[in-house]
Amino acid sequence: MAEQFDVVVIGAGPAGYVAAIRAAQLGLKTACIDKFIGKNGKPSLGGTCLNVGCIPSKALLDSSKHFYNLNHSYADHGISASNIGIDIAQMLARKDKIVSQLTGGIAGLFKANKVSAYAGFGKLLKDKQVQITAHDGSTQILSAKHVILASGSVPIQIPNVAFDGNHIVDNQGALDFTQTPKRLGVIGAGVIGLELGSVWRRLGAEVVVFEAMPEFLTAVDADVSRAALREFKKQGLDIRFGAKVTGASVENSVVKLGFTDANGAQTAEFDKLLVAVGRRAYSEGLLAADCGVSLTDRGQIAVDEHCATSLAGVYAVGDCVRGPMLAHKGSEEGIAVAEIIAGKPGHVNLDTVPWVIYTEPEIAWVGKTEQELKAAQIPFKTGSFPFAATGRALAMNEPAGLVKILAHAETDRILGVHMCGANVSELIAECVVAMEFHASSEDLARICHAHPTLSEAVHEAALSVDKRAIHRQN
Ligand code: FAD
Ligand code: AMP
Repeated sequence: MAEQFDVVVIGAGPAGYVAAIRAAQLGLKTACIDKFIGKNGKPSLGGTCLNVGCIPSKALLDSSKHFYNLNHSYADHGISASNIGIDIAQMLARKDKIVSQLTGGIAGLFKANKVSAYAGFGKLLKDKQVQITAHDGSTQILSAKHVILASGSVPIQIPNVAFDGNHIVDNQGALDFTQTPKRLGVIGAGVIGLELGSVWRRLGAEVVVFEAMPEFLTAVDADVSRAALREFKKQGLDIRFGAKVTGASVENSVVKLGFTDANGAQTAEFDKLLVAVGRRAYSEGLLAADCGVSLTDRGQIAVDEHCATSLAGVYAVGDCVRGPMLAHKGSEEGIAVAEIIAGKPGHVNLDTVPWVIYTEPEIAWVGKTEQELKAAQIPFKTGSFPFAATGRALAMNEPAGLVKILAHAETDRILGVHMCGANVSELIAECVVAMEFHASSEDLARICHAHPTLSEAVHEAALSVDKRAIHRQN
């Protein structure tokens, strides 16, 4: 007879594993199934985020940042070094160690919380039965009162550009180049293309990024994306706008790329090519035809605002449903759904999910951009403040970037905060709290911020909404 669980979660990425832990904390008998196999050939929990996404990319961004600074900016501090080298194998080993520490940590958390972990492929059958096909091909069935689908996403492939795992790669391949490519082509100037392009640029690759759109980071407030682009250009990232890649092939270990831009059809050659044109919800083989769960026309699992699917008792969270494809958004949905199943209230406010791009400078934002407010004809006022006018950013030798706040013209309620600069990935949290508490820009302006800190730029931007910033002319 099938073993009976209160909750069966399919997928152990940040959406699924967090849902499983929270469900178990709430006293629900919980199982979590995941198919991911790590670099060591063994099952590895944590999904895209921990294995081939957020965490390994941040590890490489950090290593490459130290190398870049040693070569380019520490001289300003009076620090000199000779024979500076980069041991790529050691850099990758450090990254892999962090990944295995964290993925192993989830296995430990599952054990501590009594979540039953199953390695294999999960499929939802009818009547909330879940079939597991283990990696050795054997199958078993679990019976669930509630099912949480958290199957995540996979890289989008574009026509005529086939991944070969060596010369033409996705994020996973670009996290494991065994040496710095001399010439790296990147398709897509989005979050992943910019982060991984930055890593290899800092390590010495010539990086050309092809972006089909005529403008840079259209989801980002235009003042901020303009400031960031200026810095990326200084770092030697060659971003070509309006350049749509039409195909690529590998000949004698050289990637030959075809693209079209304002000058018509063009070609370029690279040693490696990273395809980073976005990700799509993944649900291949997840749903039996008669299981009762439907997909949207974009291939996402269809859910309502509480992550409930078309079948009662079945929920879906994370990248496989609508909303931003971000780890923390999926985790919040996982917690909310576990709490709903346990009879508590659970809700995720998608309007206050923070976004971060971990380039140099970092880019972070929450809420609406100026472009969006104009398009929606919402009256707003704005205040901004450059990091170059803060003592802390100058002391850190990181003066690039700014903070910009958008507030409603009549009520002063904060509608969006946008920033690029050092550590803005951390600074954005204050603004998320402010928006969650429906703060006005005046509220932020009246809060005492420590001196000297980068957070003073947030304070001054709030003061500047009312044209009373202290350390710049209003
Ligand atoms: P996933 O993490 O994709 O996990 C889904 C899991 O389910 C996988 O292990 C998959 O193998 C498994 N699975 C799928 N189907 C089945 C099945 N039928 N049976 C069993 N198992 C199954 N987000 C951020 O917030 N911050 C970042 O800095 C960031 N950086 C990123 C960098 C890169 C290079 C990439 C690629 C992504 C990055 N992301 C980042 C996005 C982030 O990784 C995703 O938003 C997040 O992983 C989504 O979580 P999830 O749990 O929905 O899905
Ligand atoms: P993101 O979804 O943030 O990862 O960004 C992916 C980027 O890839 C978007 O800005 C797209 O415009 C871009 N893109 C998609 N297809 C192509 C293509 N064929 N050539 C160049 N850029 C592309």
